[in-house]
Amino acid sequence: MKREATGGDKREEEKNEERRRGEGRIEKKGVHYRTQCSDCEMGYVGETRKRLRERMKQHKDDVRLQRDRIVIYKHIRDTGNLVDWSEVKVLGQEDRRTVRKCKEARFIEVEGKKVMNLNSRLKIAEQWDRLLRSLKI
Ligand SMILES: [Zn+2]
Repeated sequence: MKREATGGDKREEEKNEERRRGEGRIEKKGVHYRTQCSDCEMGYVGETRKRLRERMKQHKDDVRLQRDRIVIYKHIRDTGNLVDWSEVKVLGQEDRRTVRKCKEARFIEVEGKKVMNLNSRLKIAEQWDRLLRSLKI
């Protein structure tokens, strides 16, 4: 019984820590992020020069206003699934716009078919991609 209570406290501490980290995370600018569908394995990988908080608000508005060209809205409309906005993860940070776009394309490729926006990523020619990788960009 005592062990269970201790375990419970620890879980509570971990939750508080996650919450603190989460609040810092949504204030970051120039990040790559991934939102997660609540009902399936699909996610959305994106990048923004703005604060993540502002970008998330835009996504929520897109869904609320049922914007047809927005893939997150399409996923929700077509599947009846919901997106868990609190589950947004920061994948990386990059201030340089073009480099941020290139890295976004790589993050999307790594996730492959689990990403709603696989087909709308920036297409990087193989030679350029190799050069960027060799420069560790
Ligand atoms: Zn889904």
